[in-house]
Amino acid sequence: MNATESHIAREARFGARNYAPVPVVVDHARDCLVWDVEGREYVDMMSAYSSVSHGHLHPRIVAAAHRQLEKVAVTSRAYYGTTLGPLLEKLSEVTGFQRALPMNTGAEAVETAIKCARRWGHRVKGIPDGRQRILVARGNFHGRTSTIIGFSSEEAYRSGFGPFCDGFQHFDYGDMASIRAAATPDTCAVLIEPIQGEAGVIVPPPGFFRELREWCTANDVLLIDDEVQAGLGRTGKWFAFEHEGIRPDALVLGKALGAGLLPVSAFCADDRVMDVFLPNSHGSTFGGNALAAAVALEGLRVLEEEGLVAQCAEKGAYLFRRLREVQAQVQPLVRDVRGRGLWIGVDIDPAATSARDLVERLAANGVLSKETHDTVIRFAPPLTISHELIDRAVDIFHRVARERHH
Ligand code: PMP
Repeated sequence: MNATESHIAREARFGARNYAPVPVVVDHARDCLVWDVEGREYVDMMSAYSSVSHGHLHPRIVAAAHRQLEKVAVTSRAYYGTTLGPLLEKLSEVTGFQRALPMNTGAEAVETAIKCARRWGHRVKGIPDGRQRILVARGNFHGRTSTIIGFSSEEAYRSGFGPFCDGFQHFDYGDMASIRAAATPDTCAVLIEPIQGEAGVIVPPPGFFRELREWCTANDVLLIDDEVQAGLGRTGKWFAFEHEGIRPDALVLGKALGAGLLPVSAFCADDRVMDVFLPNSHGSTFGGNALAAAVALEGLRVLEEEGLVAQCAEKGAYLFRRLREVQAQVQPLVRDVRGRGLWIGVDIDPAATSARDLVERLAANGVLSKETHDTVIRFAPPLTISHELIDRAVDIFHRVARERHH
């Protein structure tokens, strides 16, 4: 057994079987490159589902972590600290929301949003407690807790995990008529992704979010924007809602907020919404811990000071153009190339091959990507990626696609 096989065997022997990883054993990484235990080099075109937007182990972020590790890492929210306040202030500056509530994972921040929306619906809008309803899109992905999978439309996420939590109503993503049809006087919020990531990088039709914003305002319904994956530069703007020319009532952040080092998430809103949380109503032992806050704060500064958001827009357009060129040359293997910024889905014709087959062939040739469902490959490299590495990855994709193209 070589090192790769023995590491895979150990995880397979002692771990739960809840993942089916691509057979690459990552040993170390720096910026946009990853090396496996055999010393083979890969271009990271997936960055831990968009978490490693700053590149792996960004020196400024690692230095900030080291500095904080000389002081204190975890105190819980039983006390105040010196890093959380500055992080919250910075979050307010970049998001435009007055307040933020820090958590750890994306799912926890979404749970926070759900609790906040329901309490707001009861206490502010006057919906009887227990009757509050939240509208969610078909094809949504907001995490894996029991509450959240209860309103997933994906059978694999739900099957056998009931009973589920009441109070969610589906609509069709991008379709205002189905939102109007799903709403009742007990509707307190719409929870939505600005681009549906796990569903296969589904970009909403132009004008949809503007109409949704107007409808939410007219009906006193909170518009809650889950930017766990889309936020913090991934789409070429700080937040995906900027592409739509709207401002949501609340924002959920995660993934890249931890700057590629730690799980850090946040629920952001203004006073009128956030003020439903009073002492003892919500929390998390590790949410907003001193180390996480120091890392997240430095991550936001790096995004800003290195101009990574503007770079993402430019490099994303370049990656998009290059993938469209490949698409034209391997017709009809690639059915669609779609996305925004450095967040691109390549839709594969299932008659030719599966997305998973191409993802494994890409890995065997030095490119890390990830399939979502059977037909979509996601490319979401760190925002720091160079044009040279984009070219390397796309050339390999072209070669691999040509081999499967008859
Ligand atoms: N919301 C969205 C939009 C996501 O893409 C994800 C993760 N893919 C989550 C929430 C859940 O985040 P986590 O895995 O950190 O719980």
